[in-house]
Amino acid sequence: MEKVLTVCPYCGSGCQMYLLVENNKVVGAEPANGAINEGELCLKGHYGWDFLNDTKILSKRLTKPMLRYNRDEPLHEVEWDEALDYVADRLKAIKEKYGPDAIMGTGSARGTGNETNYVMQKFMRAVIGTNNVDHCARVCHGPSVAGLSLIFGSGAMSNSIPEIENADCLLILGYNAAEAHPLVAKRIIRAKQKGAKIIVVDPRRTEAARISDLWLQLNNGSNMALVNSFANVILANNWQNDKFIGSFTEGFDEYRKTVERYTPEYAQTITGIAPSLVEEAMKLYTHSKNSFILWGMGVTQFGQAVDVVRGLGSLCLLTGQIGKPSSGVGPVRGQNNVQGACDMGALPNVYPGYQAVTDAANRNKFAKAWGVEKLPDKVGFTITEVPHAVAAGKLKAFYIIGEDPAQSDPDSAGLRKALTELEFVVFQDIFMNKTAHFADVILPATAWGEHGGVFSGADRRFQRFRKAVDAKGDVKDDWIIIGELAKRFDYDLTYKDTEEIWNELISLCPSYAGATYEKIERQGSVLWPCRTPEDPGTDYLFKGNIFQTPSKKGIFFATEWRSPAEMPDEDYPTVLCTVREVGHYSSRTMTGNCWGLAKLADEPGYVQISEEDAARLGIEDEQLMRVTSRRGSVMARAKISDRVKTGAVYMTYQWWIGACNELTIDNLDPISKTPEYKYCSVKLESIQDQ
Ligand code: SF4
Repeated sequence: MEKVLTVCPYCGSGCQMYLLVENNKVVGAEPANGAINEGELCLKGHYGWDFLNDTKILSKRLTKPMLRYNRDEPLHEVEWDEALDYVADRLKAIKEKYGPDAIMGTGSARGTGNETNYVMQKFMRAVIGTNNVDHCARVCHGPSVAGLSLIFGSGAMSNSIPEIENADCLLILGYNAAEAHPLVAKRIIRAKQKGAKIIVVDPRRTEAARISDLWLQLNNGSNMALVNSFANVILANNWQNDKFIGSFTEGFDEYRKTVERYTPEYAQTITGIAPSLVEEAMKLYTHSKNSFILWGMGVTQFGQAVDVVRGLGSLCLLTGQIGKPSSGVGPVRGQNNVQGACDMGALPNVYPGYQAVTDAANRNKFAKAWGVEKLPDKVGFTITEVPHAVAAGKLKAFYIIGEDPAQSDPDSAGLRKALTELEFVVFQDIFMNKTAHFADVILPATAWGEHGGVFSGADRRFQRFRKAVDAKGDVKDDWIIIGELAKRFDYDLTYKDTEEIWNELISLCPSYAGATYEKIERQGSVLWPCRTPEDPGTDYLFKGNIFQTPSKKGIFFATEWRSPAEMPDEDYPTVLCTVREVGHYSSRTMTGNCWGLAKLADEPGYVQISEEDAARLGIEDEQLMRVTSRRGSVMARAKISDRVKTGAVYMTYQWWIGACNELTIDNLDPISKTPEYKYCSVKLESIQDQ
């Protein structure tokens, strides 16, 4: 039996593992001694590999290109040349007729690596001629990238994951690590065992809330008011760090004016949190030597998310809790390579290495390196703007790699309408899924385990993942497919191997310049920035309190709280919030095809509901119920839980039957364009009542 060292494909923790291979077949997995997991894996790492063997539990592997010339016909299998010729012809015709900005493409935050994301964004920019490239970071931590960039000049976690366990205080907001990142949760537990104080801000009693010293069970949708009141209390008690504020920050006076209004008594009318709890929490945060703020989707999936991220960053500036070990900001990225897809510039506003497309010097640098006369200067569409851009007649073609927006994006009916109205849809993936059914062409790719490259973990950690088995079927690596397509546009986007791609991209990104394959292999991982051959990488950012903004100072920000877009009313009296399921990943195409994980939970999906709400509606545990919003209606099973607040229900987005995105609203944060998955209003009915 062969053991192949690689990195888990499921969450941004970045656990290292061995795939066990016999006769070109993966037969098991074992933990490796990676920097994050130190010889352990969660259940997804242990049991999440046999989708590679095409189990067909949920859907079947794509093994041959498919195409239809007419949407009334079914897709049929074709050879690669026919599929790629057709894709090239249709994209050229659409570009000719409507211009390059009528075409949208995605990178992928899933099992495909950094190299594919680099090649895809290069294809969209240098070959198609548009910045319309994005990926699913938009629907998760987009606000963290945008907000932290505005405040510190860098949008990533400031400190590494292992540093969590050495913090003296953890302030955890809207982040259920036990389900989203089990091996990060382990660091939280270790911090507790070492004596750290744990403050949890969450409407749900998560596992972290269970072990916390303080649990602030705020009202859903009130984050900004609470964060403002945190600052108010710090200032009212004179707990701020005046020296830090004076030396390393800007905008304090205006910030102070805004948060002055948010006395804990006033904030309580919005958040429901007692003033004494706010004061106690901030006493712990400010008086601890090293305080680390961690957050998840409970901060970012709101219409006012970027503001809250900036508010959290401002707490660091107010107290000097940044620029040192185990102290700073931790937006813990969800999917295994969502950090990497951002790092590689699969975003509509930046090239790889977060270099702005609106900066002429950056455009000239990349145009020269990529051998094109010029590159587009207009920021492109985000994936969440696609339905609106299609409705406005601005987008005509969509090239989707490794995403399933028909399942994962809000307001599914609106998304289906957009996919139907597009003139041309290309779908490149490993499994049939809901989005594939809207495709004109399907291009089958190799999966994680069948190719190698570099992933970026949530803490800016580059790690090598490796090929363990040969793919079965007539499939190709994503970057090879894109290269073969570019050839049909008379553009050379071919590479010998992923290392050649990597060497090209690090030569264009000063922050990654020293992170060679050799160094990543030798060290096991490299955290960027890593600027020179001698540089081992960077555990924590902003040493010396020098930020990466133009002035090198941290920029304070506070603003008024805004309520979510759709508040409960007489017709739709209950709040719906979307959450995660520990045994499944993303839209479940991979984990749903693994025997060990598929058995954990069954369709239809479930609705977590409080005992009080269930009793009022006459709903029993496991009973079928109907959940309806202004956008759709689904059937699901009730899961009566003492973890949730009365007046709110929780659903995961992973189920085909009981898909909660039929219900969610596409209200977007105005800066990051991230949807408000955490708040819309619904009505609940017992199924027997219908
Ligand atoms: Fe994989 Fe994340 Fe589990 Fe680690 S914590 S084994 S990376 S799913």
